[in-house]
Amino acid sequence: MFDRASVVTPGGVNSPVRAFRAVGGTPRFMVSGTGPYLTDADGREYVDLVCSWGPMILGHSHPEVVAAVQEAVARGTSFGTPGEGEVALAEEIVARIEPVEQVRLVSSGTEATMSAIRLARGFTGRAKVVKFAGCYHGHVDALLAAAGSGLATFGLPDTPGVTGATAGDTVVLPYNDLDAVRAAFAAHPGEIACVITEASPGNMGVVPPADGFNAGLKELCAANGALYISDEVMTGFRTSKAGWYGVDGVRPDLMTFGKVMGGGFPAAAFGGRGDVMAHLAPAGPVYQAGTLSGNPVATAAGLAQLRLLDDAAYAKVDAVSAELRALVGEALTKEGVAHTVSAASNMFSVFFTDRPVRNYEDAKRQDVFRFTAFFHSMLAQGVYLPPSAFESWFVSTAHDERAVERVAAALPAAARAAAEATA
Ligand code: PLP
Repeated sequence: MFDRASVVTPGGVNSPVRAFRAVGGTPRFMVSGTGPYLTDADGREYVDLVCSWGPMILGHSHPEVVAAVQEAVARGTSFGTPGEGEVALAEEIVARIEPVEQVRLVSSGTEATMSAIRLARGFTGRAKVVKFAGCYHGHVDALLAAAGSGLATFGLPDTPGVTGATAGDTVVLPYNDLDAVRAAFAAHPGEIACVITEASPGNMGVVPPADGFNAGLKELCAANGALYISDEVMTGFRTSKAGWYGVDGVRPDLMTFGKVMGGGFPAAAFGGRGDVMAHLAPAGPVYQAGTLSGNPVATAAGLAQLRLLDDAAYAKVDAVSAELRALVGEALTKEGVAHTVSAASNMFSVFFTDRPVRNYEDAKRQDVFRFTAFFHSMLAQGVYLPPSAFESWFVSTAHDERAVERVAAALPAAARAAAEATA
C-alpha cells in the first residue's frame, strides 16, 4: 500500500507527521479502529496511543458517535445553508468556555488560526504577530516560522514557498520567556497585533507553560493594545471540560479549537470576545468563509462527542494517562535510561533526557536515537506511539485495563532497546 501511495502522493502520505521519516521504516496503513485499538492492513492490532493526534478522546467507533453520524448522513451531507447542528455545536462551545462569547466554525485547525490572526490584524490595524519557537499552529504561511523544526530565528520562514515578506511580520520568541516578550513589545511599539501561543504546547513534545507565563502574556498584550490568542486546537475539550482555560483560567481575547470538537471529522473553530468577533463578515469587514464550514455530519459527530465528555469521562482519561506515565517512567528507570515524563493534564510525552525541558531548545537536547529504538520495539509489540520524539501521546476513555496491561507488557523490552541504542 505504501508503494502504491508513494506513486500518487508525495512521500506516500497526506500529512507529513504520518510518515515514519523521523523514526525510519514503513508507516502502518490502518483499516479499522475500535475503542483503544487500531487494526492495520496486515491484520495486526495495536493499542493506539495517538488517537488520531488527539480527536479520538472516546476511542474509535464510539457507538453513540457512530449513531449520530449515521443519523445525520442519512439526512444529507451538505446544504450550503445555515443548519441547526452548527448552532447547537456553537452553543455547546460557548456554554463550556466562558471567554468565548461568539464562535465561527471552520474545517481545520489551520483555518482557525489563520482566520484568528487575520481578525486580530483587522481589529487592531497592526501587522506583526508574535509566536513561540516550537509552537505549531497549523501550516499557515505567517506561522511557519520556527514551527517545530528548528531555528528560533526572527521571522525566517521554515519552508520554501513561504516568502520573507509573509514571515517578516512574524516575531519568533523562545517559549516560557516573558522578558523576550517584553523586549519585543518595546522594540515594536504599536505594531504587534497579537501574541499567539499554544495554551499548553504539545508540538515540541509536551512542555507546559511555567507558572504565570500565560497570565504574563495576557497582561503584556492588554498593556500594549495587542490581542492574546490562545491556540487550543490540541488542548481544547481534552485537558478538561473547558480545555486549558479550565486548567489555568487565563482569559484570552481569541481562542482556536479543532481535533476533539470534530469527533474525528473536519470541524474546527475560532471565537472569543464579542466586540472582536463582531468585526467578522458578514457582521463586520474582516472576510472569512467556507463551503463546508459547519458541515452537518461533522457537527453531529462533534456534538455527540462533546455531550459524552462529562466530568467522569475526563476523570477516566486523566487516570489512564497517570497510570501509563508511571509505567513508562518505571520501565525506563529500571533500565537506567535518562528520561523526563512531561505532562499537561492528560497529555504527556517522554523526553529522553533528565535535564528540565522548558522550551524547544531544551526539547531538542534529548537522545532522539533512544526514542527511535523505543518506538520500534513498542510498534513490534503492538503499541502505536507517535512516530516522533516531539509529539504528545494521547489516551481515551476507551483505554481500559486490558489495553494498559498490553502497554505494560511491552515496556520492559522497549526500555531495554532504548538503553542499548547507540547514536
Ligand atoms: N494548532 C495546534 C496547537 C495544533 O496542534 C494543530 C495540529 O496539530 C493545528 C493548530 C492545526 O490543525 P489542523 O491540523 O487541523 O490544521
